[in-house]
Amino acid sequence: MKPKVELYDTTLRDGAQAEGINFSLADKLRIAERLDQFGIGFIEGGWPGSNPKDMEFFRQARRRKWKQARIAAFGFTRKKGMPVEQDEQIRMLLEAETPVITLVGKTWLLHVHEVLRVKPEENLAMIADSIRYLKDQGRTVVYDAEHSFDGFSDEPDYALATWQAAEKAGADVICLCDTNGGRLPSEVARITAHAHGRLNARLGIHTHNDAGFAVANAIASLDAGAVHIQGTINGYGERTGNCNLISVIPTLQLKMNRPCVPARSLPKLKELSEFVDEIANVRHDPRQPWVGQTAFAHKGGIHVHAIERVARSYEHIQPERVGNHRRVLVSDMSGRTNILLKAAELGFKLTPDAPEARAITSKVKELESQGFEYEAAEASLALLIRGVLDDNPELFFTVDSYHVSMRGTAHNSVCEATVKVRVGNTVHHTVADGDGPVNALDGALRSALGRSFPRLRKVGLTDYKVRILDGIAGTAAKTRVLIQSTDGSREWGTVGVSENIITASLQALVDSMEYALLKK
Ligand SMILES: [Zn+2]
Repeated sequence: MKPKVELYDTTLRDGAQAEGINFSLADKLRIAERLDQFGIGFIEGGWPGSNPKDMEFFRQARRRKWKQARIAAFGFTRKKGMPVEQDEQIRMLLEAETPVITLVGKTWLLHVHEVLRVKPEENLAMIADSIRYLKDQGRTVVYDAEHSFDGFSDEPDYALATWQAAEKAGADVICLCDTNGGRLPSEVARITAHAHGRLNARLGIHTHNDAGFAVANAIASLDAGAVHIQGTINGYGERTGNCNLISVIPTLQLKMNRPCVPARSLPKLKELSEFVDEIANVRHDPRQPWVGQTAFAHKGGIHVHAIERVARSYEHIQPERVGNHRRVLVSDMSGRTNILLKAAELGFKLTPDAPEARAITSKVKELESQGFEYEAAEASLALLIRGVLDDNPELFFTVDSYHVSMRGTAHNSVCEATVKVRVGNTVHHTVADGDGPVNALDGALRSALGRSFPRLRKVGLTDYKVRILDGIAGTAAKTRVLIQSTDGSREWGTVGVSENIITASLQALVDSMEYALLKK
């Protein structure tokens, strides 16, 4: 039997290097949690030496329970000419208190001479000292051998010497990196096979997509002996991105018979891909392999049965296996599978043919056509499902009216919000200030509801995202607001859409409070 493949996700570190991607601390924790649920083995949370946000991530990560993932901190081998125990950056890596530490070091003599400007032997010592020191502290060490393929092509003996130094020092994984992303699958396979023949440590592969081969190179490396793949969700990363785990996972699972995540996770692949895009505030790529909206779209026009027959013969896998669905113009089954999965997760048991399932699907489609998006707003989806299943759901409260105003001077501005909220026969009328309109509205709403529902005082916003949607049904631009809330132990997302940002925000806030009360 072939050895099990380890998946190592670096969305939160290498992925966050991508232009236009910026994760807040809450985003990072939420993504990490989702990756853990999905069954990813390693999650690289960031680089503790680079910024306080990453350090805080590790502090919070320590307090959380991870189902199966092991959290990794990323950093460099020690600086030149200094003992490893005096290296500030190495100290911060240890302070992150992760079970796994990933160290990057130099393979390519060009870099050793021109970038590091050290003697080749000193580079070997930097690799060995750093790994041995961290191993002595009981950590699992992944060694990322930067520029493995470029370095090996220039000076094979030296490249091998760096990997052997890492192995001898106790590295658990030696991960060959195509840092510049320009190698071909045949080269990656040949060099991996060479390393495999001379090293006993587990081999990994870390690829970039500059020539469009990141996934192909990772698969080629795997065929040649690697057992550990590093990549990012949706292929986020510097320049043209990293190896896309969303393509790697089904390839391993469905085509190579080398399972890498639990079988139950695979139908949630599309959802994971969309979730991370939504958190990153990036439009989901409709042409993304496996999970894109058009990945299994067929233009029809002939009889439905014929299309079904033709479609099967033109699809490389059954789309449902990765949570996607076939789309044909005459009978769009869009989204039902996902909704059933979601309904089941929320405790509603439905069969695919139940009229309720159809009603929910059409409601979701109708709202999505208006700009709503439920991938990262599971609480709003739950309320929507409840609304369809229960004609007359008992609402905990209603907002009778609200008002937001703003005063500004040359130096500062203050927003004030008032809301009138009805709980049963009681009406609460409150006012609150805020540094922005949504902040003020949230304060007023929370203080009104807090009088009837003291437990809502624990609920707070952890994140707020706004996206301008253009070109929906030819109307004026709309705003989608995505809010993330927490009560200290759980987190949930809600969504609102309107031409008016305040109205959209209020919808998302109201859903958030309603959901908090519903869940108890
Ligand atoms: Zn990289």
